[in-house]
Amino acid sequence: MRALTWQGRENVRVETVPDPRIEEPTDIIVKVTTTGICGSDLHLYTVLGAYLDPGDVLGHEAMGIVEETGPEVRTLARGDRVVVPFNVSCGTCYMCERGLHSQCETTQVREHGKGAALFGYTKLYGQVPGGQAEYLRVPFGDTLPVKIPEGPPDERYVYLSDVLPTAWQAVEYADVPPDGSLTVLGLGPIGDMSARIAQYRGARTVIGIDLVPARLARARSHGVHSLDLRAHGPDGLTEAVRDLTDGRGTDAVIDAVGMEAHGGFTASVAQKMTARLPDAVARPLMEHAGIDRLNALHTGIELVRRGGTLSVSGVYGGAVDPMPLLTMFDKQIQLRMGQANVRAWTDAILPLLTDADPLGVEGFATHTLPLEEAPDAYARFKAKEDGMIKALLVP
Ligand code: NAD
Ligand code: ZN
Ligand code: ZN
Repeated sequence: MRALTWQGRENVRVETVPDPRIEEPTDIIVKVTTTGICGSDLHLYTVLGAYLDPGDVLGHEAMGIVEETGPEVRTLARGDRVVVPFNVSCGTCYMCERGLHSQCETTQVREHGKGAALFGYTKLYGQVPGGQAEYLRVPFGDTLPVKIPEGPPDERYVYLSDVLPTAWQAVEYADVPPDGSLTVLGLGPIGDMSARIAQYRGARTVIGIDLVPARLARARSHGVHSLDLRAHGPDGLTEAVRDLTDGRGTDAVIDAVGMEAHGGFTASVAQKMTARLPDAVARPLMEHAGIDRLNALHTGIELVRRGGTLSVSGVYGGAVDPMPLLTMFDKQIQLRMGQANVRAWTDAILPLLTDADPLGVEGFATHTLPLEEAPDAYARFKAKEDGMIKALLVP
């Protein structure tokens, strides 16, 4: 089959690789019909190279048609239409039963002290082949895939794999009071969708911050107070947000930026170093030095009101990043974070994916491209060129 493979720093390539096969009796094979490129893939593209091998198949936002089922799969059959959540979660262990699918005890990558395995996401998360490919092996065929109806276009459902549940969890964790206020840092797919969900669920004031004009404009078009980081600067931002919130800051802040935030010179150098050093040298540096650019997190701590909540969905990777703990403690901030528990939210979201489309999932993708054009799409998404906010690939 054809698949998008990682080859090195900022180097991905579509190659012919062996087709996946049923390995466990509960596996299914999905013929992928649509698969997204995520901001998380950009971390693999640049920073996290020490944990990938050339040839690893990337991608964790796949949907498609069941091609084959293992002998113990009862609830799905060839021809069914499914979305595949990005966590490889069993659905039946202690953690999954508590809605903590990203901590699944059946797939935890204990060797690296990590939570549930993820599709297409490094050795730290199990080195599981990903879904930017023609076919995908999916474990736990009866409990992991989300079965969806025939008929509407893929675009209606594909975001159930990641964008929708991640944004939904970000808003849940933000815990915005009724009629309350929220700042969303980063207006990529996750931030943009978080803003839409917060509005849908009744937040009165939603402020969005980014530095890419197309992203600011899109959020503004659906009623978000968009603020350009570059125009305001950190101090100006605080003032602008306080002006909109009776001088207090917003009830909650969602960080939808993560470790590659704009700015942050020292960590930026560390990230470039780790991407170039041999793996054996880079890994300890990643694990024991501060490699994250924390600008967005610091901005979040600054912008949230006293007693407010900081909800972090941006991915961070360093073990000992210096954090302003004094300020966080003094402001009595509630901090909630973590990988999305995808399967815990999909049942709540599915009823919103109707013709009325209250979250605007149809039209959410700015680009739909053949899988063969994935390398170019990665480069353009990374550069934030051509108004690319969300790209879908069609194998
Ligand atoms: P993205 O890269 O498209 O979006 C990030 C946005 O942040 C960009 O628009 C960028 O311009 C903006 N930005 C950069 N620095 C900023 C700053 N200092 N202040 C404000 N905005 C800034 O990616 P995405 O797909 O929207 O994902 C966003 C983050 O969420 C990534 O870190 C990704 O890894 C993470 N993520 C987490 C989960 C999860 O399960 N928790 C799931 C999906 C994605
Ligand atoms: Zn993703
Ligand atoms: Zn589990």
